[in-house]
Amino acid sequence: MASRLSNKRGVIVDLDGTLYRGEIAVPGAVSWFHRIRQTAGVICVTNNSKSPPDDVAARLRRMGFDVRDDQVLTSASAAASYVAQVWKDSPVLVLGEEGLWQAVSAAGIRGFRPGDIDPERVSAVLQGIHQGCTYGDLAELCLAIRAGAAYVLTNPDRALPGERGLVPGAGAISALIESATGVAPLVIGKPQGRMMEEALRLLGLPREDVVVVGDNLETDVAAGHRVGLDTVLVLTGYSRREDLASSALRPTWVLDDLGQWFA
Ligand SMILES: [Mg+2]
Repeated sequence: MASRLSNKRGVIVDLDGTLYRGEIAVPGAVSWFHRIRQTAGVICVTNNSKSPPDDVAARLRRMGFDVRDDQVLTSASAAASYVAQVWKDSPVLVLGEEGLWQAVSAAGIRGFRPGDIDPERVSAVLQGIHQGCTYGDLAELCLAIRAGAAYVLTNPDRALPGERGLVPGAGAISALIESATGVAPLVIGKPQGRMMEEALRLLGLPREDVVVVGDNLETDVAAGHRVGLDTVLVLTGYSRREDLASSALRPTWVLDDLGQWFA
């Protein structure tokens, strides 16, 4: 087991529950990261569509991870890259925050805010989390989708942790739009595979040389499986060993913590 895992030349690693919990690094994760990056290409992936990659990387560095900005891929960057490939030079209606707008600009997308373009002229709608969105914004998105625009969603997370508890995520906003239009979004983030495909493209390695590492069987392992990658489930976050019995998903390896990687 250890020999095949140590042969991997590319690692796609989840953040929350895998590298850190809250603002604290998971025990053993910093030394694992330092060691793995000597022998493998590393891309850190997060469904977060709110924060730009350099903010996420800065947060990781504060916790001790020796990570570069270009080693962080968010669902917003992956979504923008996908939209730029499929609807190049076409008008795209964007609902999101700083992280999504930076990604839209970096990808060279012709992005418009709700109200700044006739919904009939929109080729695609790109939606992430937007905590300041209004009914009027949502109506513009629905009108564009009903007029035939494709609908792309950064990440399907229905709830996310706020200071007072769980608050609506990008997936909850999307549920409203889907309810109003009858159109399901094309999802980029986990558990779908498109963010993993983008991470693979960034690594530039063949599938068999790359492994996905995460703490969540139903998102990290599922997304890895969707794109035909080996997976490592680490039991330092969301999923428990008991969950394996009740799930059809089988990670290639299960580790109690990242310290076991090189054991
Ligand atoms: Mg996680």
